[in-house]
Amino acid sequence: MAALLSPEELENSRVAHELIGLRLRVPIVHYLTNIHSKPLRLRWRQLHNESPPNGKLPDSVRPFITDAMALADLSSFVAIYYRVDDGDGRSITAAMLLRVWKMHCRVGNSNLDINAAWYAIRDVRSKIVGWQRCTRCQTMFIYEPNVSHARSCPFCALAKIHA
Ligand SMILES: [Zn+2]
Repeated sequence: MAALLSPEELENSRVAHELIGLRLRVPIVHYLTNIHSKPLRLRWRQLHNESPPNGKLPDSVRPFITDAMALADLSSFVAIYYRVDDGDGRSITAAMLLRVWKMHCRVGNSNLDINAAWYAIRDVRSKIVGWQRCTRCQTMFIYEPNVSHARSCPFCALAKIHA
């Protein structure tokens, strides 16, 4: 018979369940929660009635930056993350990702891919991509000179389109 889970383990597995429900890829949920991939894959099949995707995960947030709107969404997600983060420098936790995700859904649109959101936080934190303030509108955004849509502020770009 399996041992009774501690409150921390219960909470960890509850968060993993929610992240799987949001289609965060199994290897990332495994990385964040330390729960073995096998039960995570099983949970995916239960929740989505299909096998979890097997494709290779991207190396960075870059392939998710497909246009100014995507960059604006990812940048606002990272901005919320930094507002919630108490700045103690610890690595991002599964519970934190879920909390920021729920806040982002409340204030913005929820078309964002949670996998992209995870890469955005990870890459900004590890300085794989830049994080800078727009000199015109003062909003923080993900800056990446190697991605055409991430060379300038997405919020100013969108404001121009809609003006
Ligand atoms: Zn701007």
